[in-house]
Amino acid sequence: MDIAVVGGSLGGLTVACLLADAGHDVVVYERSPSELEERGAGIGFLPATSRYLVEHAGIRLDEVAVSTGHIRYLTRDGTVAHDDEHRYLFSSWNTVYRQMLACFDRSAYRLGHELVEIDLEPLMLGFSNGLVIHPDLAVFADGVGSTARAKLLPDSRPQYSGYVAWRGVVPETELSSATREVLDDAITYYVYANSHILVYPIPGRDGSIAVGERLINIVWYRNYLAGDDLDDLLVDVRGVSREVSVPPGALRPEHIAEARAVAAARLPAPIAEVVLAIEEPFVQVVLDLEVPRMAFGRACLLGDAAFVVRPHAAAGTAKAADDAWMLRDALDRRPDDPAAALAAWAPGQLILGRNLLARTRAIGRRSQFDGTWRPGDPELIFGLLGPGE
Ligand SMILES: Cc1cc2nc3c(=O)[nH]c(=O)nc-3n(C[C@H](O)[C@H](O)[C@H](O)COP(=O)(O)OP(=O)(O)OC[C@H]3O[C@@H](n4cnc5c(N)ncnc54)[C@H](O)[C@@H]3O)c2cc1C
Repeated sequence: MDIAVVGGSLGGLTVACLLADAGHDVVVYERSPSELEERGAGIGFLPATSRYLVEHAGIRLDEVAVSTGHIRYLTRDGTVAHDDEHRYLFSSWNTVYRQMLACFDRSAYRLGHELVEIDLEPLMLGFSNGLVIHPDLAVFADGVGSTARAKLLPDSRPQYSGYVAWRGVVPETELSSATREVLDDAITYYVYANSHILVYPIPGRDGSIAVGERLINIVWYRNYLAGDDLDDLLVDVRGVSREVSVPPGALRPEHIAEARAVAAARLPAPIAEVVLAIEEPFVQVVLDLEVPRMAFGRACLLGDAAFVVRPHAAAGTAKAADDAWMLRDALDRRPDDPAAALAAWAPGQLILGRNLLARTRAIGRRSQFDGTWRPGDPELIFGLLGPGE
């Protein structure tokens, strides 16, 4: 089949690689005019996210991910409140993207192609540069702001959770040895009123996982009221109102100063040191999105285009990858009838998305609003299908 994949991030690349390996002619159409090198920061590296690289590209996990052996909670004075032995893998968005991109035919990865038009019957995709195509199958992996979803399901829109994630990275060598010792070999949490922050190591900017060359990554969940409070945070240094994130270098100085002052006043000293060392913090709005359908004849929604889940299970990219693997299997089973394959694929992925959304909503509510988050609670372990799964 001629297959068009719209969106060339981790979800789009995973499905494109799998379907090309299965013998289809796959072209990826990505809106961005340049490769997506500078996006995001750390990601929890769950098996579904790494599966393609391990099974098809022969990449060893210890080449692309940093491993930690403990889940650690600090008290306000910086001593250890709780410590569980638990192994996690962390990578970075850039590292995984670079590796996935290397697995796909670059001549079929078309940058600067923004989807603007869709017809389902017959299947037609139109792009802002005037290109019109009639593929046999279309996979829309165009993320939280999906153009495809807006056209196919105009009533399904992301809902604001009530909080945002402040994020950022700092080279580990810029931290004091005392702080590096406290954070060593762990994901480290601090939980306080209506907020929590987590700190973990990820590969360096060049992908290195050697100790001394890694970055330390933070995700700090902070509440902002919908309306003025949030809107003001999202107005960037140039006065532009952003919708879902404010990238590195674009937050207004007064917001950075406020966050640094709160970090200094309220976070344990080792974690505050990390926050204060981050030169260019950035913000991602935490959103919930669910859709009632993922399949539309010979077209479908995949990854964040369909379900956006809160980051507390570290499973967003794993969900997008699982959508891709299951789609490959469904098409293998019905090569003669792609619409039937998509119809058979969608129900399971809808259940996966709904369950993950419900779980991550409940975790977020406990931390950000109810104050019932308990260190060591097994429900808080990362996982796609359930805690630790
Ligand atoms: C604070 C935070 C922390 C997170 N932490 C983790 C984590 O630890 N682990 C994890 O697995 N996930 C994590 N995630 C989630 C993860 O980032 C997403 O789930 C994942 O990137 C979804 O991939 P995707 O390919 O579906 O969409 P996206 O990554 O959003 O990609 C969509 C792509 O489509 C392109 N596009 C958009 N519109 C068009 C158009 N009209 N035409 C053509 N192209 C278009 C975009 O440019 C983009 O490249 C986190 C998210 C947040 C907010």
